[in-house]
Amino acid sequence: MMEKLNAFLTIPRQEAGYRPINERITDFSQVEQTLNSRDRKLQASRCMDCGVPFCHWACPLGNKQPEFQDALSKGKWEEAYRVLTATNDFPEFTGRICPALCEKSCVLKLSCDAPVTIRENEAAIAEAAFREGYVRPIRGERKGLRVAVVGSGPAGLSAAVRLNARGYDVTVYDRAPLPGGLLRYGIPNFKLPKEVIDRRIQYLKDDGIRFEMNVNVDQAHLPEGFDAYALCTGTPQARDLQIPGRELRGIYFALELLSQQNRLLDGETFPKEQLVNAHGRHVLVIGGGDTGSDCIGTAIRQGAASVTQIEIMPQPPIGQNPATPWPQWPVVLKTTSSHEEGCLRRWSLASQRFIGKNGRVCGVEVEEVQWLPAETENGRPTMKLTGKKEIIETDMVLLAMGFLRPVLPELPPLVFPAGDVRNGASLVVRALADGRKVAQDIETYLSNL
Ligand SMILES: Cc1cc2nc3c(=O)[nH]c(=O)nc-3n(C[C@H](O)[C@H](O)[C@H](O)COP(=O)(O)OP(=O)(O)OC[C@H]3O[C@@H](n4cnc5c(N)ncnc54)[C@H](O)[C@@H]3O)c2cc1C
Ligand code: SF4
Repeated sequence: MMEKLNAFLTIPRQEAGYRPINERITDFSQVEQTLNSRDRKLQASRCMDCGVPFCHWACPLGNKQPEFQDALSKGKWEEAYRVLTATNDFPEFTGRICPALCEKSCVLKLSCDAPVTIRENEAAIAEAAFREGYVRPIRGERKGLRVAVVGSGPAGLSAAVRLNARGYDVTVYDRAPLPGGLLRYGIPNFKLPKEVIDRRIQYLKDDGIRFEMNVNVDQAHLPEGFDAYALCTGTPQARDLQIPGRELRGIYFALELLSQQNRLLDGETFPKEQLVNAHGRHVLVIGGGDTGSDCIGTAIRQGAASVTQIEIMPQPPIGQNPATPWPQWPVVLKTTSSHEEGCLRRWSLASQRFIGKNGRVCGVEVEEVQWLPAETENGRPTMKLTGKKEIIETDMVLLAMGFLRPVLPELPPLVFPAGDVRNGASLVVRALADGRKVAQDIETYLSNL
């Protein structure tokens, strides 16, 4: 039971905030700061320990937020870590990059628009655990059965940890040189420093999980000698924009920029002609989502002359959206740390053609669109071209329009897909939850053999 159930009346929500813009855009280090442990405990004490914790309902992992706030508010850091890791094997990831679905469903979000800082508290507990040595091996008694996990993104890592905990011998395969999937080769270091992944991978290796990297697994010929397989290969194919001029130089998929930047920071080198760099460029990001936002922060750090982000959908409402009332995830305008760093954002623009000069992109013709409301309750809004066209000058275009959902062939009963490959591009927390679920499904399958 929380010591003071009305602490939220006197203690305001306090976010640790980001490093100052002029400082953070000069490096790729983490932008988010941390509170001292006294303030962190005070933040946890704001939890009202609701009878029906909507935060718990909203979290795909089913994290027990009131319970770990309670332990944290009393300074019981180790207990808080135990509660947190009962449902989440990687709180140091979600604590940094989860959009915090839970906070949008917190009753304090509804009542005073100041939810408990659940995500930041989670990160603080995880860091304390590593610092103080609370992170313990997760390895069950061996069962003599072997499971291969293909793909080392969050879904694969989550499945691997749970299976290892249940006593299966786990080997994780990935075609990339280092484990982590999009955590490592998509999400920029300024959101998730890669040492955080390395640190956890070392624990997983110490727990006995094997990693076979640089192995491109053919789904039709899975590695032999395993009793079951978790297929966690993500959504590798980005959505393209096949409009006239697509062949021009200077047009890239978002991940070409993001992945290469992360690899460069990890010490890899690339021939000059293969470098994707925004230095001095007028960058146009096509796609208004989170991947686009990561492109903005990366381009700014590389020294872009200007950055513009365009989106085909209309600008979402600011603050509240009656279409997505509490406790749902609110579809409202989101301003990320990268947006704050300086970019122009525009909405309701469809890209019609790329314009080139000497084989390189120099502009994009866009047309304003109008969105007509859906005609039926479950229908979709209809897009109408308005004829209002203009040319946005640019010499570097980044396509950030999402990823195609893979079409999986019929899989044999011993192969279990999980994460984005199964659900389409989503969130780390959903991939982690799906990895846990698939581990359970594999255990059920193997127990019934
Ligand atoms: C730029 C970007 C930023 C994002 N930011 C966030 C964020 O801030 N917060 C958030 O919650 N979510 C974010 N996401 C979404 C999140 O990263 C994904 O939903 C999540 O990583 C999916 O996990 P996964 O394990 O299913 O797949 P992935 O992370 O894509 O991992 C799949 C792995 O499978 C490997 N693989 C694929 N095919 C093969 C093969 N044939 N053989 C061997 N290995 C193979 C790949 O190399 C990869 O390592 C972001 C996504 C992107 C692209
Ligand atoms: S994983 Fe995300 S949704 Fe779940 S408790 Fe943590 S921040 Fe909230």
